Amino acid sequence: MSILIVDDSADDRLLVQSMLSAAGYDDLLVADSAASAFRLLGLDDGKHGAVSRVDLILMDIAMPGMSGIETCRQIKAVERFRNTPIIMVTVKTDPVDLQLAFAAGALDYIGKPINKIELLTRVRSVLRLVHEIERSRAHAQELLEVMRQLQEANQMLLRLSCLDGLTGITNRRQFDDFLDQEWRRAVRELTPLSLIMLDIDRFKSYNDTLGHTSGDECLRQVAATIAGAVNRPGDLVARYGGDEFVVVLPGTRTDGAAQVAETLRQRIEALGITHSDGGCTTISAGFASTIPSRNNSPTDLIKAADQALYQAKQEGRNRAKQAGTLSLVPNTRDR
Ligand code: GH3
Ligand code: MG
Repeated sequence: MSILIVDDSADDRLLVQSMLSAAGYDDLLVADSAASAFRLLGLDDGKHGAVSRVDLILMDIAMPGMSGIETCRQIKAVERFRNTPIIMVTVKTDPVDLQLAFAAGALDYIGKPINKIELLTRVRSVLRLVHEIERSRAHAQELLEVMRQLQEANQMLLRLSCLDGLTGITNRRQFDDFLDQEWRRAVRELTPLSLIMLDIDRFKSYNDTLGHTSGDECLRQVAATIAGAVNRPGDLVARYGGDEFVVVLPGTRTDGAAQVAETLRQRIEALGITHSDGGCTTISAGFASTIPSRNNSPTDLIKAADQALYQAKQEGRNRAKQAGTLSLVPNTRDR
C-alpha cells in the first residue's frame, strides 16, 4: 500500500510517517507542498520520476501557496487519480472548509493534532472501502464480459440453429418459418410467390458406389452452387432434407421461377461431378407459383412443387417441370 503524505509541517509529516510505519505501512511518500506532490504524481510539466500508483493521499488543508483543498481538486481532475482516496488533515474542523474539501473530492478528514488511533482507523477504513469499490468494479467488469460472451454464444447458437450442419445453407426449420412469413406478406400485399423443389438424380446409387463421404461432398457442392446462383436479396435457398433442396422466390411469377429452375439445372450439370453411372450428376426440379390467399396455404405450394418434381423424375430426370395444380399466376416478364 503506497500512501502519500502532503504537509508543509516537517514535524507533522514525521509524526504521520512514524505512526503509519509502526502500523506496517512501509511504502510512504512525502511532499511538503502542492508543487512537490504534483511532481511526485507526475502532474507537473516534466512527468519524470512520477510514481506509478498511490493508494491513498493524506492532505494537509492549510499549506502556504496552493491550499490542500485546491491541490485535492486538481489531483482528482486527473483521470488516473479519479478513484484515489484523499483524506484531508486539518487543524480547524470548520464545516465550510470540510464542505469545500468534500466538494473537491476528499473522502474523509482527520483533525490535528493527530491522534494515532484515529489516523489508523480512518486510513484502514478508507483503504478497505477503496478495496471493496475496486473489487465491485472488477466484478462488474467481469459480469459485463460474461454477458458479452453469452450474447456472442447466443448469436452463434441462433445462427447454427438456422443452418444445415452438412451444407451450411439454411435448414428445414428456418425454411418453414421463412415460407410462412413470406406467405403472410404476399397475402397482405397481393404479390406472387414461387417455390422450386430440387432433388439430386439417382443419388442413392452415387452414395452406394462412391461412399457416403463422397456423397456428402457432392451435397455440399450442389448446395453451394444453388446458393450461389440464386441472388436476389429476398430469395432463400434451403436444404429440405436428404438430397432435396428448396428455393423460395418472393415476388416472382411462374416464368421467373422457370428461369431460375432451368439455370440451377444447368449449373449443376455444368459442375461435372462424375456420377457412379459414368455421366454427370444432375438434378430434377419442380416449381410452383401462386398469389397466396386465405383459400390456400404454404403446404399447397410445397405439394404442387413436389408433384412437379415427381413429374420431372417420371419424365426422365435432369429437367425442370412446372406445377399444374395450383391457381397459377399468368406469365409476365419480371425476371
Ligand atoms: P431419384 O433420382 O429418384 O431422386 O433417385 P435417388 O437415388 O436420388 O433417390 P432419393 O432422392 O430418394 O435418394 C436420396 C438418397 O440421398 C438416399 C441417401 O442415400 C442419400 N442421402 C440422403 N441424405 C444424405 C446425406 O446427408 N449424406 C449422404 N451422403 N447421402 C444422403
Ligand atoms: Mg434424389
